[in-house]
Amino acid sequence: MELHGVGVGRGIAIGPILRMPDPLPAPTEAKHGGDSTAEFAATESALAVVAGELMARGEKAGGKAQGVLEAAAMMAQDPELVDDVKARIGAGTSGERAVFEAFNAYRDILLGMGGLMAERATDLGDVSQRIIAHLRGVPAPGVPQSDIPFVLVAPDLAPADTALLDLNKVLGLITRDGGPTSHTAILARSKSIPAIVGVTGALDLTDGTVVIADAGAGLVTSDPSDAALADAMARVAERAAQAAAPITEGALADGTRVPLLANLGSPKDAAKAVELGAEGVGLFRTEFLFLDSATAPAVAEQQQQYTELLRHFPGKKVVVRALDAGADKPLSFLNDAHEENPALGLRGLRALRANEQILREQLQALVNSQGETEADLWVMAPMVADADETDWFVKLGKSMGLKTVGVMAEVPSLAVMAAQVAVASDFVSIGTNDLTQYTLAADRMLGSVAAYQDPWHPAVLRLVKLLGDAGAATGKPVGVCGEAAADPQLAVVLVGLGATTLSMTPAALADVRAELAGVTLEQARVKATAALDATTAAGARAAAQRA
Ligand code: PEP
Ligand code: MG
Repeated sequence: MELHGVGVGRGIAIGPILRMPDPLPAPTEAKHGGDSTAEFAATESALAVVAGELMARGEKAGGKAQGVLEAAAMMAQDPELVDDVKARIGAGTSGERAVFEAFNAYRDILLGMGGLMAERATDLGDVSQRIIAHLRGVPAPGVPQSDIPFVLVAPDLAPADTALLDLNKVLGLITRDGGPTSHTAILARSKSIPAIVGVTGALDLTDGTVVIADAGAGLVTSDPSDAALADAMARVAERAAQAAAPITEGALADGTRVPLLANLGSPKDAAKAVELGAEGVGLFRTEFLFLDSATAPAVAEQQQQYTELLRHFPGKKVVVRALDAGADKPLSFLNDAHEENPALGLRGLRALRANEQILREQLQALVNSQGETEADLWVMAPMVADADETDWFVKLGKSMGLKTVGVMAEVPSLAVMAAQVAVASDFVSIGTNDLTQYTLAADRMLGSVAAYQDPWHPAVLRLVKLLGDAGAATGKPVGVCGEAAADPQLAVVLVGLGATTLSMTPAALADVRAELAGVTLEQARVKATAALDATTAAGARAAAQRA
């Protein structure tokens, strides 16, 4: 049987599937049989078993996951909680129900405390589900445990599930929900796990069924024939050989150069990006410096971080984005007004203009760093609406001493005015995540409209073309730094539309590099034209593949 979905990357996973167990229904309010001592003994033993399992898993996982799992194990044996469970059982409540009620009461207290404590509340729910599953003798919810590697099938994955994925065991991911920019897709891409999301019928697969999940084709084949298996295995071997080949610069089959750059969120990720062949940085998100503090960090502190980043890229381009706060990245000292629609509010460059001192200090720190290393520093503003705002930002940056200053294309109005913008700016970098959100009027944080959040939509591609054409007419570089650049087939189309560089999560570099090497510029343009003429995102994807 064949099932179709949206592939993430080009990986191929072959193996038996395991389904994520359904969440357990809440225990009923039924009373226990009357022997409180026996009921508590069974419950106490379940608490101990689950705590032991969590500790053992933590030890195996090591690193960050170990801390998370050990904290969860301690919760299962928290004396106050155990006392509460015991008192409820003493009053006649069944063990399952007593665990459910006691953990819920504790969770409410943690939620009331807010902050870090509130974040632990979710873990508490997971621990209580494990204990109840143990009492019922059914599999624990969450990512299943297995001694052999498997392909995980789930409705979708919560961040808590994905943080603890054992990459030695999970060969690939197949989810019923989610689109190309969903949490699962982003995680799969950053960890190089083959994944296919949005697969209707995925949950009808039964545990143990062998599948081939071919992300490049967006195809799940269950119970494949021997010939199909042999073919898939040969392709896996071919990919492994490709990955081991020396890293080359990004280029098309006809030699046209397309520099492949990294999206980074901290200087700490720079070394790994260089190792994976990043030819520079196409988007350095500076929010990490600001998000955890009550005030903007001092110029010297910022400068030290920027310099640390730049030192990894001597002679290479590094594009740093000015602080992009607001909407999905709220920052109270920049804007603490309540907004009904924060994605349409005082965010990005708008918030910086309203707090010009913070912007000036950031630019000053960047100017200082520019003089300290051999890297080629470019600086850009997020959420820019038109050529007038472009002009304001570019002039400010240059007056302070920055050499190369540009803007991100995330708001459709900027793309519509691309010709004027290209004149006012040194370069444009297309943020396809926000550009898609605004073009299709679909909140990128909202699961119910995730299907609209697809950068393959011809409306988005047409805006990219306007920007590409304007760049070509003025000789200005046009990069792409949204998730779209990490989708190998879409990367080809973006180049066909005029993108001169592509920037992505470093784990995606190898796949995009391999895909670009297989097409000429002329072929990329033909694929781009086919996609532009489609009527839907799915139609554009299919048309580009056929062309
Ligand atoms: C984008 O919007 O495409 C982008 C790269 O910026 P961010 O994802 O940080 O909003
Ligand atoms: Mg953005």
